[in-house]
Amino acid sequence: MRYYKETELDIEKAAEFLELPPSRLSEIIEKGNLRQNWDEYSNIYRFEGHAPQIENGTALIDHYGSFELVRGFPKIKRAMLLDPALKGNFSQIKSVVVEEKMNGYNVRVVDYRGKLIAFTRSGHVCPYSTERVQNFLKRDFFQDHPDIIVYGEMAGPDNPYVQKNIYDIDSLDFFVFDMRYKDTGEPLEVCQRRELGEEYGFNQVRLFGEFSINEASAKITGIIRELGEKGHEGVVIKDPKMVLQPIKYTCSQSNCSDLEQAFRFYNEAGRDYLFSRVVREGFQSYEWSEDEEEFQKRCKRLGESILLPMKGTIAQVATGERLSDDFCIRVRDENVIHKFKAYMERFGLYVVLGTPERIGEDYVVEVRKINKSTTDKTMAMLEGQLWS
Ligand code: ATP
Ligand code: MG
Repeated sequence: MRYYKETELDIEKAAEFLELPPSRLSEIIEKGNLRQNWDEYSNIYRFEGHAPQIENGTALIDHYGSFELVRGFPKIKRAMLLDPALKGNFSQIKSVVVEEKMNGYNVRVVDYRGKLIAFTRSGHVCPYSTERVQNFLKRDFFQDHPDIIVYGEMAGPDNPYVQKNIYDIDSLDFFVFDMRYKDTGEPLEVCQRRELGEEYGFNQVRLFGEFSINEASAKITGIIRELGEKGHEGVVIKDPKMVLQPIKYTCSQSNCSDLEQAFRFYNEAGRDYLFSRVVREGFQSYEWSEDEEEFQKRCKRLGESILLPMKGTIAQVATGERLSDDFCIRVRDENVIHKFKAYMERFGLYVVLGTPERIGEDYVVEVRKINKSTTDKTMAMLEGQLWS
């Protein structure tokens, strides 16, 4: 294990940079809302929970007395009913841009001491995403535009966080969907961002087009129906100038596939996560004025996405098997496998690694994330214990 020197934050200087009174910053730290990352990233701090005017997951990089802020990606609000949401939120503009919402995990990329690093939503530096991103983005962009943060979705197979095999790609890939200036946090306009991405050969989320506010809801409904058939997630609707906040809207099939995954591990899944997905189905079904046949299909899809995985889970535990979330990771540097395992363990997750297999230039290894809580709960029920 390499030895990394622990650094200490200069509160006075950091507070000045953040434009906060030092006492306020000390308070934030005491409450555990600004935390230090570790090892080679121990001079990077992340905001967790509430700090005034600072997005959750924002990273503060301490360059030994001078600072840099890598802002967290802002929350995107959801339309439950497309038409009123579009008219209500974009009334000041004439048209909106519609991009595909990729189903993966959010990553922010910056150049850090001559290497690209990938932050996850929470402001941690994920060793796996960091290794992968070197292959996806060229560093020249970051040298030419050191003032810009690139935001994108890591999606596809070999994905430790969101296992969805819905895209026609061989392995994990990175799809850029946003760029923002470091100092102000302001986003680039959609057009400008896409041109820049194109210029540097970045993979980008799909652009469906720009639609007038009046036609947008019908167009998006058509897009959503098609994406749903393919199992894709949905769309993000944006002000072309990126002044107004974007809105997301998703397909029923994708909601149900989330439920299916979550109910397999019903004791680990967040209640809000499950509940919100059920409510979405109600609103979409209402807005689409479904006939009886379509409505029955939706009922079946929703019901099955809840019951089938749970029944499967109970049957699996009844045979004495432990439940696990299994996925592969693909790396070029074998050391990253162990770094990633240690990283998962930091979050209290128990993972079991398979034997790495050499495929071309890469190592592919199977990872089993053990779902102890659902296994134990199910076992207890099977043994006759009572729920509570
Ligand atoms: P949020 O707090 O943003 O709602 P969430 O984790 O609940 O976060 P999602 O429901 O997946 O997120 O929707 C927002 C996320 O969608 C973004 O954080 C981003 O990672 C992802 N995303 C995928 N494609 C796009 C896109 N084209 N434009 C913007 N975000 C996108
Ligand atoms: Mg997502």
